[in-house]
Amino acid sequence: MKHRPLTFDAFRLAREGGVLEGTLDVAAASRLADRVSDRIADGAATVDWRIEGANDVAGRPALLVSLRGIVPLTCQRCLSEFALPVEQQTMTVLARSEADADTLDADSDDEVLVADHPMDPVGLIEDELLLTLPYAPMHDVGACVVAGGEGTRS
Ligand SMILES: [Zn+2]
Repeated sequence: MKHRPLTFDAFRLAREGGVLEGTLDVAAASRLADRVSDRIADGAATVDWRIEGANDVAGRPALLVSLRGIVPLTCQRCLSEFALPVEQQTMTVLARSEADADTLDADSDDEVLVADHPMDPVGLIEDELLLTLPYAPMHDVGACVVAGGEGTRS
């Protein structure tokens, strides 16, 4: 594991408009191990991430989390690997406690994150990525690898 021990204060990042950036090696992310394929070439499984301190439309402290990269998955129909491009931005409102989070959840469409402790950026990114990945990843219709090698399309 090459997790950096660095943590950050989410409310402070939001207040100061700070930015954290990095690159996640998907193959080395232990919490993603059950969900991603390990049979893919080195360097083909990284996600660039960015956590930006912000405010939501109501002016509440929030984090804008951006992910962009490639995640290797195993197709549940033909069991061969394919690379899922990931590109998304999520606005996450910050809560000071679980009770605070319940209140925010009730009147916001955004995700809510309880940030009552120093946050691990890599853990946060792994969580976001897990939410993004399909439960039953599959090739597009017709793109599956047929046993015997025929019908392989890319
Ligand atoms: Zn397939």
